[in-house]
Amino acid sequence: MANSDDQLASGQDAQSNEPAAVPAITADFRRDLAFPKLTEEMIQRLQQYGREEVVAAEVTLYTLGDRETEMFVILEGGIDIFLPSSEGGHKIFARHRRFDFSGEFSLLNSQSAVAEARTATESRLLRISRKDLRLLMRAEGDIANLIVQATIWRRIGINAEASSGIVLRGCAGDAELTRLQRFFVRNYYPHRIEELSRADLPAGGNGDSGLPSVVLSDGRVLVRPTITALADELGITEFPDPQATYDVTVVGAGPSGLAAAVYAASEGLSTIVVEGTAPGGQAGTSSKIENYLGFPTGISGQQLASRAHLQALKFGVHLAISREIVTAQQIDGIHKLTLAGGMPVCSRSVVVATGAQYRRLAVMNHSEFENRGIYYAATAMESLLCRQQEIIVVGGGNSAGQAAIFLAGVAQHVHHIVRGPSLASTMSQYLISRIDKSPHITLYTDSEIEKLEGESALESVTWTNRRTGETITKPIGRIFVMIGAEPNSGWLYGTVKLDKKGFVLTGASDGFENTPYATSVPGMYAVGDVRANSVKRIASAVGEGSVVISDVHRYLALRTQLIGN
Ligand SMILES: Cc1cc2nc3c(=O)[nH]c(=O)nc-3n(C[C@H](O)[C@H](O)[C@H](O)COP(=O)(O)OP(=O)(O)OC[C@H]3O[C@@H](n4cnc5c(N)ncnc54)[C@H](O)[C@@H]3O)c2cc1C
Repeated sequence: MANSDDQLASGQDAQSNEPAAVPAITADFRRDLAFPKLTEEMIQRLQQYGREEVVAAEVTLYTLGDRETEMFVILEGGIDIFLPSSEGGHKIFARHRRFDFSGEFSLLNSQSAVAEARTATESRLLRISRKDLRLLMRAEGDIANLIVQATIWRRIGINAEASSGIVLRGCAGDAELTRLQRFFVRNYYPHRIEELSRADLPAGGNGDSGLPSVVLSDGRVLVRPTITALADELGITEFPDPQATYDVTVVGAGPSGLAAAVYAASEGLSTIVVEGTAPGGQAGTSSKIENYLGFPTGISGQQLASRAHLQALKFGVHLAISREIVTAQQIDGIHKLTLAGGMPVCSRSVVVATGAQYRRLAVMNHSEFENRGIYYAATAMESLLCRQQEIIVVGGGNSAGQAAIFLAGVAQHVHHIVRGPSLASTMSQYLISRIDKSPHITLYTDSEIEKLEGESALESVTWTNRRTGETITKPIGRIFVMIGAEPNSGWLYGTVKLDKKGFVLTGASDGFENTPYATSVPGMYAVGDVRANSVKRIASAVGEGSVVISDVHRYLALRTQLIGN
């Protein structure tokens, strides 16, 4: 029998043994879940949302690159779905017949279609517009769940075909290749990877200077594209409606932003989320989250992110992905945010959820070992990993000092590595004294980690004293990195009050509106890791994102009383 982790990886819910509603994007394709049949009773309910029409054979209903495609329910006849084939031309992906419906992941957002739909024969279809689809998604819960599940499984099937014609080419181990690959994977975009070894490149000169590259289906090649250029080219970018004034704009689609969006949209507020890279934030980069309530066997960050993302789409959140907000200002009670490239987003209120970036070890292959030997927290949970083992703590601040002392209580020995010549200028004296006195902690000043080794997990670490040149290698499998986090708040400089490190100041104690999330600008709130003094965890980020919406409601009601719309 498969263990529970295998079940999760294959899209099954470990607890119930039922298929998970939203599978991991890497799950094995399940045709039965991708192509469910609607019942006659469902078809009757759907009639009120659509317009019946008879369409001749061989008519293209939508094609690659089309946005805002409509949904078609087949009452008689059929629709065939085609994918571009890697040899050029098209190949068939699905044949929808009576009581089937068209659409895959792009049906839930306004990204470009990655498939083409054509009538197979003369067909009687129920055409459901995007506007009506949104209504039905809210009102018909059972059908909405069926559609959401089918669309994501269909995208998994399309990704498994890897035939969109998009080829990502690069050298194995190249960090740029990994960056682009992560973008494709985290946006669920079908692609094929062609990894070249350095030996395959022309000898001499800059053989790899044209790599990594993305070969598009029409043969054009993008060399080392930026995420923005790639997202625009592939139709992943979704722009805000320039005419709209949203009730709430959430900046950032990490756990706090997605939680805020789900609560706002489900409570009837017109909601847009602007995300610079891909939904999921830092949590999306975690290979396994074990301390998030409700997932006793853990859940991958990517899976948690895709569940939250789909939940937001289901409630009608507009997601504008792949463009960062670069400035914010408030004019006559309306917040005007500007996307990179100049496009404005107007909103009555704003939730800042742009998170932080934890400083990573400056070692080439550190990402291979994240959560498989490298950790950025030292809670009771992590301490269980340290029993009777030698471990490393990196960092000269208080968080590193606390971690070293705490973990020394369970680990066999703590090797505490700091870059500076002493702890004096960076750590509180009481922590320094305890570290000095502990027989279970050895301090290495002027030192830096240089090499990480291991097969599937971290097994050995090498560090060097930059002053003496002495190098130490030890068979160590746990490193706790506490070298600080940098808030993603550059776009707020000069707009809201920030603390010395750039985290957003909030709350009544700072003299703002009487809620923990109010910033110095009325109607602008901050949640999650970007907020000064927040607890940097997924559960607290989700909690803050959910709770802040009650403040937004209060603000909008007051605003309406004072200035009308
Ligand atoms: C490797 C790793 C493992 C972790 N494991 C755990 C764990 O097991 N358990 C746990 O509780 N916590 C864990 N954490 C911490 C947890 O992930 C964070 O506390 C949480 O993700 C914070 O959520 P957030 O929404 O506030 O911010 P983030 O997750 O940082 O999300 C912010 C989002 O905003 C976007 N953004 C930034 N600037 C802009 C802009 N100007 N315009 C538009 N978008 C922007 C970013 O692209 C990002 O998607 C881990 C962190 C890391 C790095």
